[in-house]
Amino acid sequence: MSDSSPLTRQWSLIVLLLALLGCGFLATSLASYYAALDSIRAGIINTELPLTSDNVYSEIQKDLVRPILISSMMSRDTFMRDWALDGEQDAEQVVRYLREVQEHYATVTSFFVSAKTHTYYQAKGVLKQVNEAEPRDDWYFRVRDMQTPYEINVDVDLANDDRMTVFINYKVFDYEQRFIGATGVGLTVDAVVKLIDTYQQRYNRSVYFVDTEGLLVLTGNSGGPMGARVGQSLNEIAGLEELMVKLPQPQSGDFEYQEQGRGHFLNVRFIPELNWYLFVDTYENGALAGIRKSLYINLLICLVISALIITLVSLALRRYQRRISALATTDLLTELPNRRGFDLLANQAVQEARRAPSPLCALMLDLDNFKQLNDSQGHMAGDEMLRGFASDLRNTVRQSDIICRWGGEEFILLLKDTSPEQARELGEKIRQQTEQNSIHFNGVQLQITTSIGLAQLQADESLEQLIARADRALYRAKQSGRNRLCEEPHE
Ligand code: GH3
Ligand code: MG
Ligand code: MG
Repeated sequence: MSDSSPLTRQWSLIVLLLALLGCGFLATSLASYYAALDSIRAGIINTELPLTSDNVYSEIQKDLVRPILISSMMSRDTFMRDWALDGEQDAEQVVRYLREVQEHYATVTSFFVSAKTHTYYQAKGVLKQVNEAEPRDDWYFRVRDMQTPYEINVDVDLANDDRMTVFINYKVFDYEQRFIGATGVGLTVDAVVKLIDTYQQRYNRSVYFVDTEGLLVLTGNSGGPMGARVGQSLNEIAGLEELMVKLPQPQSGDFEYQEQGRGHFLNVRFIPELNWYLFVDTYENGALAGIRKSLYINLLICLVISALIITLVSLALRRYQRRISALATTDLLTELPNRRGFDLLANQAVQEARRAPSPLCALMLDLDNFKQLNDSQGHMAGDEMLRGFASDLRNTVRQSDIICRWGGEEFILLLKDTSPEQARELGEKIRQQTEQNSIHFNGVQLQITTSIGLAQLQADESLEQLIARADRALYRAKQSGRNRLCEEPHE
């Protein structure tokens, strides 16, 4: 036997339903969320970041190819080589040559440094003498000693307010392949910076270059990752310290890292021409906020639907419960309470009467010779008679009286706050009414009488004992000829 009440069972059913709905909705929402998350992640890592990296890289190459060609031409120029070999007589001649190159090809600077005199010529005139002891002139001595015919060097330009400039440094040889100087042009990285700015602002990602020492060397005007500035080390940028360990070996690839609880995707590409790393970095808030928002909306919709379903189910359950309990306590033929319905109300009435105290009387009614009616007029006529009798009974008693179809053609009335005299009066009234009334059924007039037993509730008497005494009185009424009311004497 289960000791849980119908209410508890109803609640556990609702909780179970809620749990099932919740799990179902949560599972589908989370599954679609993670699927979307994965495809967006894959899109960022496999397509978006490499594409940005490719574009920035090809822009750099485009910017570099032309100056490399120009510098190559300069290193082979017979005028410049002859002029140097002839003892650098008239500085104005080479200055004019350099100015022509600079203006015609729109470079930022053009230069020639003589190996013999260490003089640094550029488009505006003689700039200085290069000196091995001067760190800023290191580049020249490096170029002099290097194996390759040229190098690309990113440096500040002495002749142009120390602007960040990409220099193409070419070795110049005489006709016997002896080193006689270095020449080339310089160009700004403005185009690259502009491109970086476009990517940073429009596509919500950071684009920056890092050298092999882990220093930020070039980024957009708006700054690098988390507002970092050129010259800062990756060590000082939250989340990127780990990468420092992997540098300076050329290390290209995709990385993910956390910065203040924010997930970052990072694509790193080594650019051998510059000996720099190109970093393209995006954080997931920008890219994933949309699907996270749709997850929340999804969950909210699920919550609302669940609440709606639960409300509807609990309303339906309550309605059915009420209907079922009404059906269980009501007699279908007469629509009067049956024994079960009566017990609930009657026990309560007995307790109230005892507490008050107030008189309580029971009338037990049984139709006379009902079997005969059934036998002669048919069962349907009997039913009709029972319905009619019950309806009359209901119309005769007070609202507070408890009425019951006890079984077959037997009825009980429990009369609250009623003396035996008043009960006798009512019983007598019912008996007379029944005797006088007749019902029409299939064109036949049907009549019936009723016998009634009356008993008053005694002190310390149970409901069962009261009913048993009323039944005894009824028996006496039957015995003494029917169609009468007998009263059970007080004990
Ligand atoms: P008495 O005066 O001694 O009470 O005689 P009686 O014929 O009324 O009593 P008895 O208990 O012998 O018969 C009752 C009959 O009532 C028998 C039963 O078939 C009939 N009955 C019980 N319930 C119903 C019902 O719902 N509908 C109909 N039509 N008959 C019913
Ligand atoms: Mg009877
Ligand atoms: Mg009977």
